[in-house]
Amino acid sequence: MQSSSIQFYNTLTREKERFVPIESGRVKMYTCGPTVYDYVHIGNLRSFLFEDVLKRWLEYRGFQVVHVMNLTDVDDRTIKASRTQGIQLKKYTEQFIKAFFEDIEALNLERATDYPKATDNIPEMVALVKKLLEKGYAYRGEDGSVYFNISKFKDYGKLAKIQVGDLKPGARVNVDDYAKEEASDFVLWKAWDKDDGDVYWETEVGKGRPGWHIECSAMSMKYLGETFDIHCGGVDNLFPHHENEIAQSESATGKKFVNYWLHNEWLLVEGKKMAKRLHNYYTLKDLTSKGYDPIAIRYLMMSVHYRQQINFTFEGLEAAQKTLDRLRNFVHRLLEASGKPAGDKLKQLVEGVQKGFESAMDDDLNISVALAHLFDFVRDANNLLDTGEVSKEEGREVYGLMLRFDEALSVIGQVKKTEELSKEAMELVRKREEARKAKDWKAADEIRDQLRAMGVIVEDTAQGVKWRIEKR
Ligand code: AMP
Ligand code: ZN
Repeated sequence: MQSSSIQFYNTLTREKERFVPIESGRVKMYTCGPTVYDYVHIGNLRSFLFEDVLKRWLEYRGFQVVHVMNLTDVDDRTIKASRTQGIQLKKYTEQFIKAFFEDIEALNLERATDYPKATDNIPEMVALVKKLLEKGYAYRGEDGSVYFNISKFKDYGKLAKIQVGDLKPGARVNVDDYAKEEASDFVLWKAWDKDDGDVYWETEVGKGRPGWHIECSAMSMKYLGETFDIHCGGVDNLFPHHENEIAQSESATGKKFVNYWLHNEWLLVEGKKMAKRLHNYYTLKDLTSKGYDPIAIRYLMMSVHYRQQINFTFEGLEAAQKTLDRLRNFVHRLLEASGKPAGDKLKQLVEGVQKGFESAMDDDLNISVALAHLFDFVRDANNLLDTGEVSKEEGREVYGLMLRFDEALSVIGQVKKTEELSKEAMELVRKREEARKAKDWKAADEIRDQLRAMGVIVEDTAQGVKWRIEKR
């Protein structure tokens, strides 16, 4: 196994490190999932897409990946939103969980091994809070809530690189999210108050509900053990969420919690973080209902290195669609190849792209470099195809390589060689021909988009109009 070829930038050390899993051949990975108080936006989906590529790359390299993604179905935001709408919490969050699974399916995200819900794991959270109380890391505030005493954990701040030496003793927060400057004792268990309505559990640590941070510590350790390999999330999760997860988990177990912390950067819109509270977000459905291909959205968001910000624009999305079409078209041409053998010329290109693609991905998932290698190859191989230099066997072989890369990218899918168009699509192709003859380019373009939404790609070539069907 070439496991040791992978390097990751570890937020904990701020360095690139060779990836070595605890157990040979197996990777245990936890990724913070959505807070299901609303539909996820494509900023959230960027995080999940990065995690998908990470997981797929580990699998490409032969690892078995145990992946746990939680669903935050009880926290400040879910309670507030469900109470505002007057809907019972479980019923309220269910609709967004359902929509989330539809999104991940549309984007070709591999299913996690488990998607634990916070509300299904309350006993584990209570046990952890109890342990922290017993060990003296936690205390009960006058409001009845239980807080973590950050001055008791000497490593507090090691992930976010903050010093907490001169904090006011006893300063504490009982909201789930806050800024680095407000580092202070944080809430583990929130005593019930009237704003929580019917959302509470009667437990050994009192009547109330868990804080957001303890949810992820309890669920990750339950499913993956006290120490596991990789923990991911967007950069906003670094502090306080992940810092607090480390504090709670390491204080409770006395062991290192996670070996590699990977954080992805923002998806921006016009230079600002895409976020619900800024009202500058798109959901996946917002975009697909405008006719955009979810796989183009996938491509756009994974084509930039995960530690770089992406500025979302419709021009960018359209460019991603074109690039994707080029790739699919290439794969289609490979299946149609029937020229004379290119031999060594092609062999060298294949070796080059394989090496370039793999070593870039091994280097902290440097996907933009990996894709640059891939598209250089597509250009060179297309040149060979243009001059009829790729034989049927060679075409098949290169097609196999593209599918192998696609195990990590998941944007090509299966392209079938011969197919029939539906009646409706045939009619549209015919109408488009008429529009073209009448030089009504606008109508022709519109029909092309309509066909694309149906999975039919039309191309105007020197030999006339060609169409093909995409299979995903
Ligand atoms: P939440 O539902 O707010 O708990 O977020 C789920 C995941 O989406 C977390 O890992 C966040 O860090 C991530 N996230 C939220 N907004 C963005 C954004 N604009 N760009 C990238 N990731 C984001
Ligand atoms: Zn989390």
